[in-house]
Amino acid sequence: MKRLPKSSSPGKTASKVASRDLPVRELTDLDAFYALGGLTRAVRVAGRVRRKKTPEASADELRIRAATPRKAANGVEWLPVPGWELPWLWAGFSTRKGGVSRAYCADDAPGEMNLGFTTADDRAAVEANRRLLAEAVTGDSVTPVTVVRQFHSNLVVLAGSGEAARERPRKADGIFTREHGFLIGVQVADCIPVLVVDRRKKIVAAIHAGWRGTVQRIVESSIGQMQMEFGCRPSDLIAAIGPGIGPCCYAVGEEVVSEFNSQFAYADSLFHEVYDEEPVRLRYPMLFLTQRAPGHSPIGPQIHLDLVEANRRQLVAAGLKAKAIQVVGGCTMCQPELFFSHRGSRGHAGRMMAVVGIRGTGKRS
Ligand SMILES: [Zn+2]
Repeated sequence: MKRLPKSSSPGKTASKVASRDLPVRELTDLDAFYALGGLTRAVRVAGRVRRKKTPEASADELRIRAATPRKAANGVEWLPVPGWELPWLWAGFSTRKGGVSRAYCADDAPGEMNLGFTTADDRAAVEANRRLLAEAVTGDSVTPVTVVRQFHSNLVVLAGSGEAARERPRKADGIFTREHGFLIGVQVADCIPVLVVDRRKKIVAAIHAGWRGTVQRIVESSIGQMQMEFGCRPSDLIAAIGPGIGPCCYAVGEEVVSEFNSQFAYADSLFHEVYDEEPVRLRYPMLFLTQRAPGHSPIGPQIHLDLVEANRRQLVAAGLKAKAIQVVGGCTMCQPELFFSHRGSRGHAGRMMAVVGIRGTGKRS
């Protein structure tokens, strides 16, 4: 069989190059032949195998809408969910702005809202920040915040109001409750936080979805558990996807691509080929010419994963209507002044929190 040529220009997709060099009919026949065996033609670009369907995009095209926070009286800047002004509900996503943490800022900068017990930060500062977040979202700093010990799983736990008093949080990546008077939360610094609310039965969930949790369908399994435990109907659910690393910035390796391909029929729609877009490089390409052979340019394509879309698809697969899903916006890497980013700061990052809860202190109505 004729070998497909290597990409000779970093600005072209492999499939464009291939179709230039091979008659279209021959390629169509080849694809049809492959399809008989359930296969998709792949090409090799810069030494890596690509499925031909991965669409090309620029980071700019993939960039998601920036988030605009609300500033609470205590100085905490946080993101409420538009349209979620239900009288019984608390919900929101924190940013790094506000707070008393000094672990991740310059000496002369104001304190920050690290909400995770990281090794770099003081426990007292994190505890103070959690009280500030509770105050910003619920109006009362003593509202307990219940978290889980996250480990990139698809494990979801049901929390009761006594949960915050536990010595150690339980291990899980999703938490849900029908009891009121406290917040449940997940911690993130690039991973995608998802909040799910049953408007009719008044049940709330917070989910931590990095690529590993997403590929293990943490969102689908959380909703499945809400259905099993309380008979939640997907048509009564609303969901909000908070700030995480966007498709503009989230370059991933081949192992991530193949994990998604093995799990989701729609995996193709979650990946894009993105070329280096440094403006100087694009403007003066001659300055960056090297002696490398064609196809080995350092400006090679990277595969970017859209984790926001991946989790939106899981919400839809679980039965939510598309219009019941809010993408709050913001990329943790594109807005470093507003968000902590694990990848953006090479691992030295604080944690933000997505919280949700049911108002009230008395008997559940
Ligand atoms: Zn970005």
